[in-house]
Amino acid sequence: MKNKSSLKILVVSILTLSMFLGCVGEDETGLKPYQDPNLPVEGRVKDLLKRMTLDEKIGQMWQASPDLVRTYNNFDEEKARKLVIGYGVGSFLSIVGEDTQKLQKIAVEETRLGIPILFGIDAIHGHALYNGSTIFPMPLALSSSWNPGLIEKTASATAKEVASTGVKWTFSPILDVARDPRWGRIIEGFGEDPYLVSQLGAAKVRGYQGSDLSSQDSILACGKHLAAYSETTGGRDYSPADISERTLMEMFLPPFKEAVNVGVGSIMTSFNEINGVPSTANTDLVRNILKDEWEFDGLVVSDYASVRMLYDTHYVAEDLEDAARCAVEAGVDMEMVSEAYMEHLERLVIDGVVPEKLIDDATGRILKTKFLLGLFENPYGSLDPSVINSRQHRNLALEAAEQSIVLLKNEGILPLKDARSIAVIGPLADDPSNQLGGWTGDQPAENVVTVLDGIKNNAPQRTKVRYSKGCDVLGEFDNIKKATRIARRSDVAIVVVGELENMSSEPNCRVSLNLPGNQGELVRAIHHTGTPVVVVLINGRPLTINWIAENIPAVVEAWFPGQEGGNAVAELLFGKINPSGKLTMTFPKSVGQIPLHYNHYPQKNWDHGKYGKRYVDIEDEPLFPFGYGLSYTKFDYGNLKIIPSKIDKKGEIRISLDVKNVGKIRGDETVQLYLNDVVSSVTTPSKELKGFKKITLNSGEKKNVKFTLTPNELSLVDRSMEWVVEPGIFEVMIGSSSEDLRLKGSFEIIE
Ligand code: BGC
Repeated sequence: MKNKSSLKILVVSILTLSMFLGCVGEDETGLKPYQDPNLPVEGRVKDLLKRMTLDEKIGQMWQASPDLVRTYNNFDEEKARKLVIGYGVGSFLSIVGEDTQKLQKIAVEETRLGIPILFGIDAIHGHALYNGSTIFPMPLALSSSWNPGLIEKTASATAKEVASTGVKWTFSPILDVARDPRWGRIIEGFGEDPYLVSQLGAAKVRGYQGSDLSSQDSILACGKHLAAYSETTGGRDYSPADISERTLMEMFLPPFKEAVNVGVGSIMTSFNEINGVPSTANTDLVRNILKDEWEFDGLVVSDYASVRMLYDTHYVAEDLEDAARCAVEAGVDMEMVSEAYMEHLERLVIDGVVPEKLIDDATGRILKTKFLLGLFENPYGSLDPSVINSRQHRNLALEAAEQSIVLLKNEGILPLKDARSIAVIGPLADDPSNQLGGWTGDQPAENVVTVLDGIKNNAPQRTKVRYSKGCDVLGEFDNIKKATRIARRSDVAIVVVGELENMSSEPNCRVSLNLPGNQGELVRAIHHTGTPVVVVLINGRPLTINWIAENIPAVVEAWFPGQEGGNAVAELLFGKINPSGKLTMTFPKSVGQIPLHYNHYPQKNWDHGKYGKRYVDIEDEPLFPFGYGLSYTKFDYGNLKIIPSKIDKKGEIRISLDVKNVGKIRGDETVQLYLNDVVSSVTTPSKELKGFKKITLNSGEKKNVKFTLTPNELSLVDRSMEWVVEPGIFEVMIGSSSEDLRLKGSFEIIE
C-alpha cells in the first residue's frame, strides 16, 4: 500500500515536471495529463494546448448562437453534431436544461479531445430568462439597498439556479456607471457612482463565483461592458462615448478594476467606441490595461456580434477577416455569436498575419476557465429542478425587494393606519409581466405577487380593497372615471404607475422622463377626489415626477421589484417593514438638466453674484439627490472622530461616529461617507462617496460606525494621468444622503 502510494506520488511528480518541460504523456491509469484533476491547472492547459490543432483552438474561441442547433425551435441533433464535432465549438449562448446535456455528451464523448462546452446565459436578476425561476429586483433596484451582503446572497442563489440547468457562466454584473437616465440600460446596473458600483459589483462577483469555482453551486461571472458603454450620446443605446482619458479613468474603469481584484473570471467588451476606437478592437484597453496592467488572467468575450460590428457598423475593419484580426490583436479571446474567428483566423495564422501565440493565449484562457470550473471532471453538472424558485429563494426575493424600495416622500400618511377601505388603482397595480423588468423570459403569472395581491395579502382583516386599472401605461385604455369613483368611496388610494418593462433595458431609451401616457392625468384625477393618495412607482429609471413630488403626500419608488415586489410594497404601506432604500441615481427635474449627478466638479457650485443662476427656466437642483431615501424613524449622528489628523501618503485614516435611532420604531440607516480633496493639482469632485455602512437600530439604540480610508480612497488621477495621493487637507462629510450631511471634519495628508 505504502509503496503504491509513493509510486503514485512519484508518477504524478514526474508527470508534473515533464508537463512543465513540455513533454506529453499518460499516467498509469491511461489518463492524459490534461485529464488528471490532481495536476495543476497551468500544466493541464499547457498539455492540452500541445495536443490541439489550430482548428480545434479556434473552435474554442467561438461562442455559437443557439439558433445554429435548432430547427423550428427544436433541438436538432444533426446540426448539433456538425457544430460540436465539425467545428469544436467552445461555448454556446442561451442554451439551458436538457439541451446542454445533449450537446455536452457530443463534446465529451465524440470529439477527439473531449473538451467540454461552456454554456453562458444572461441571468442579471435571477435566472430570469428561465421559466419558473426566482426573479429578484432589477440591479438598479437592488443597488438602492446599499447592501453588498444581500446582493451577494441574491447572486449566489442565482448561481445555484443557473448551475442547476446545466449552465456555468452568466453575463453579469453590469459595471457600467450610469449617468444618463434616458439610457435604457441604467436599470441593469448599480447607478451613478463609481465607488458604489465597484462595491456592489464585487459583491455580485463573489456571490456568483463563491469561494471555489468548481463547486456545484458556483458559476463564472462576467463584468461588462468594458468600457464607458453607459456614457452615451443623447441617452441612446449603442452610441459612441466621446470622453476624456480622465473621465474614463476616474469614472468608468474603477468598477472593472475592483472586479478584477476580487477575481472575476471573465470580462465582456462593449458595443461602443471610445474616442474613435471600438472597445472590441481596443488593444490599449483590453490587452494593455486589462490584461497587462491589471494582470487579468481570465477570459475576455466580445459582446453579441461586436466583432462583426467592427466592419459592418464601425467601419474600422475592411471585412470580416480584418475584423477577426483587429479583435484578436486587441485581446478578445472569445467571439460571441458572429463568425469572424471561425471563418478567418486559421488563414490569418497560416499567412503569418496573426501570430499563433495570440491564439494560444486566447485558447489557453478559455481552457483554464473550463478547468477551474471543474467542467472536465463534471461536465454535465446536475439538473436539479428543486432549487428553482425554492421557498428559500422566494424569501430572499422578498427580502431583496423590501430593501430596494425607496420612500421618496411621506407627509405623515404612511404607514397606513385605520384605512378601512383602500382603492388600488393604476395600470401597474396588477400587471405581473410588467413588474419584473428586462431580461426576463416568460414567467408564470402565479409566481408573481403584484401590488394588488400584496395589499390583499397584508391588509388588516375586514379592510375593503377595491381595484380599478384607470388607464393603460401608454394611454390606450382609459377608464379614469371609474377609478375616481372607487377612490371617492375609499379611505385612501394607492395609485401604481410607471413604465412598461420594455421601456428600459437594452436597447429601450427614452427622450422624456415623464410618466408615459395618461398616467399623470390619472394621478391628478384621483388626487382631486380629495381621498389621500399614495403613488407607487414601478419603473426603470429616475422620472421627472415634479407635480407628484409636490402635490401627492406619499411617494414610493419600487423600481422593477421582482416577483415578491407586491408583498414588499404592501408591507411598507402597512408599516410591517420600515423603508430603508436610498437612491443610487439623482432624479432630475427636467431632461434638460442631464447630465446631473452628485459628484460634479466644483465649478458647478460657483455663485457668480447676480449671474449665479445657470438656467433661466429652472433651478439647477435635483428633484431627489443621490443617497436619498426616507424612513419611518429618525437617526441622530454625533461623536465624529478622525484619527490621526495628519498622516503620510501611505497611511490609513480611521473614522468613527455614533448613530442613534431617536424614533419609536426599529429601522435601518445607510451611513454615507463623502470626501473632498480640498486643493489638488487637478479639479476633483466637491464630494465623492468613499464609504457606506448599512446598520439596523432598535428604537433608542445607538451604534458606533467605523470606516477606514486607505490610499485607494484618497488617490486622484494627476496631470500625468497617474493615480496618486497628493498632500493637503481632505474634508470628511458624513450623513444620510449626499445632500443631508450631518457631520463634518478633516484630516491632512503630508509628504
Ligand atoms: C448585450 C449583453 C448580453 C449579450 C448576450 C448583448 O446584446 O449587450 O449585455 O450579455 O447580448 O445576451
